[in-house]
Amino acid sequence: MKKKLINSTRMPVYRDAGFELTNADITGQAFKKETDNDHWPEHFIYSRYRNPTVIEAEEVLMKFEESRWALLTQSGMSAIDTALSVFQEAGDSRPWLFFSEIYGGTISYIDSVLKNRRGINLHRFYPEGMRYDLDKFKEKMEDLKPSLVFFEIVSNPMLIIAPAREIVDIIHSYDSIAIIDNTFASPYLLKPLGLGADIVIHSATKYLGGHGNITAGALCGNDQQIMKKAIEYRKYVGHMISPDDAYRLNTQMQSFFLRFRRQCDNAVTVAAELEKSELIEKVYYPGLVSHCTHSIAKEIFKKKGYGAIVTFSFKGKENKHKRQRRDEFIRAISDHIKLVPTLGDSNTILMPVEPIWGDRYPDPGMIRLSLGIEDTDEILSVIKSSLAGII
Ligand code: PLP
Repeated sequence: MKKKLINSTRMPVYRDAGFELTNADITGQAFKKETDNDHWPEHFIYSRYRNPTVIEAEEVLMKFEESRWALLTQSGMSAIDTALSVFQEAGDSRPWLFFSEIYGGTISYIDSVLKNRRGINLHRFYPEGMRYDLDKFKEKMEDLKPSLVFFEIVSNPMLIIAPAREIVDIIHSYDSIAIIDNTFASPYLLKPLGLGADIVIHSATKYLGGHGNITAGALCGNDQQIMKKAIEYRKYVGHMISPDDAYRLNTQMQSFFLRFRRQCDNAVTVAAELEKSELIEKVYYPGLVSHCTHSIAKEIFKKKGYGAIVTFSFKGKENKHKRQRRDEFIRAISDHIKLVPTLGDSNTILMPVEPIWGDRYPDPGMIRLSLGIEDTDEILSVIKSSLAGII
């Protein structure tokens, strides 16, 4: 039962490291009951275990993802570590399969922590050009019979949309676990648990926090046994979010749908404008019919939007010229749109692709734009005037 101490409309920030347990009997009961790993414990014990301010924010996310539970963590990476570690068992050598088009930090984590340190038998599934081939995916599943598969709905930076329902159905036909990182699509565009996913992950640092001022992560699901294992892992490893960050995240999530809808609208307009420019080689945006996975995006996002990231590349006589144009654009626009290595901020920000991903994507003139909530005409005007100065 939630206790309301005064007539406030919101849960305060409970900063207690440890909660008062009053006497030896209650202490004994609390610690005994703690092994049940309930989401809302009868007695709060210690904030690394559970904290009421954190749970209040988790309940908001449960509504967003229509999930039976949600757990917040200190970062997207700690949410990923928690979600995956729940399924790691000593002596189980069955392979795990990861789509190749996932966040670079996740790739580093699976290689350096899961494979090199924990000895997990990892495999990758690659797209065919700019699309996932479901027949090839079935072949891979048949060949490997992995116990777990991890993928992202929207890949980064090429924005390949995964046909999530078909992929989850194939995963489940092999009795495998489906873990989906839904950071880029967000619950506004898609609620993957509704498609059968076992766990959904967010870097809440991005759209849920939405202002570039919180580092946080989340995992959501429906299965109570998975939740209990995740609560236990988060507690033992110490991945718990702080009550202050949870409180701020909760406040900032109140405007999430408004922000994200606006960000998607801005992205549609900017992508169309960039596609018209003589200087631009290619615009990658799932909302454009020219994007390889436009039809999948239209189907799974039900025309609500296509995300708020637009990737584009500059034309040029040779690679040096493309880089020059990219750099001139970044310089020209820098008073208005900053180069910041994150996304999902309420301000439009950008990142050059090559310095981060190297030659993985062949076009060195590529830029990834993360649209904010600014006035659309204002963004268009700074983009047009910055392009106008480029030779
Ligand atoms: N998942 C995706 C898709 C991301 O883009 C990121 C970070 O950029 C993460 C997970 C990791 O999140 P965090 O930086 O909050 O740890």
